Amino acid sequence: MYGILRKISEYGGTDAVSVRKQFAVIGIGRFGSAIAKTITQLGFEVLAIDQDEETVQEVSSYVTHAVQADSTDEDAMRALGLRNFDVVVVAIGEDIQASILTTIILKEMGIPKIVVKAVNDLHGKVLNKIGADKVIYPERDMGQRVAHHLISSNIIDYIELSADYSIVEIKVSKMMVDRSLRQLDMRAKYGCNVIAIKQNEQLIIPPSAEMPLRAEDVLVIVGKNESLKNFEITFSE
Ligand code: ATP
Repeated sequence: MYGILRKISEYGGTDAVSVRKQFAVIGIGRFGSAIAKTITQLGFEVLAIDQDEETVQEVSSYVTHAVQADSTDEDAMRALGLRNFDVVVVAIGEDIQASILTTIILKEMGIPKIVVKAVNDLHGKVLNKIGADKVIYPERDMGQRVAHHLISSNIIDYIELSADYSIVEIKVSKMMVDRSLRQLDMRAKYGCNVIAIKQNEQLIIPPSAEMPLRAEDVLVIVGKNESLKNFEITFSE
């Protein structure tokens, strides 16, 4: 039913006609509702699905469509025309069985991109095995970010790229002020690469090796987790 809502957006004139992606979010808890709300605010259509009627009432005030349904009911999912959606997010947490069954149903329907929240490693492993395109661990990832921030208050953000590599956004510490990237020689000393420098609200990519760093600058650094850890400890304040 909602598949036909796929619309051709004409922003930018007739030459720039583009098809807008359609999103569905299943399980409107704290995580699911934040996703649904943000996608809507970014100007996309979102179908929110939850088995709880009150939750559906609440979410209907800020998303394009909200429907009460049990996502483990294959017929109900087909009736909603979910197969026409580009991205479906499964944000069911506690009921791991429902999360897995829902993912299998979506996979069989041929959804191009299925993103699923996992509550633990085992849950995540199962989701990967049954073909989830992306498995996310919101609590674990946020815990890691907060921990890095606690170790060094200079760390603004920390994103794990893989089991071995991460990106860290770090404020220039006192030890770095007035020194250039060449002088700091991070690649040789710590095995880390500065990929950008944020100055005021501007991103400098690639960063200049000679420019002296300022106290208010922010470095975006990529590296092996072990290397980043050594770097963080050396420059923590
Ligand atoms: P959060 O931490 O994001 O608040 P959570 O991890 O505690 O969520 P739950 O509260 O278990 O996860 O589930 C999130 C939502 O998913 C709830 O609103 C619940 O009603 C809904 N939900 C659970 N199972 C199903 C299902 N089979 N079909 C549709 N919605 C479901």
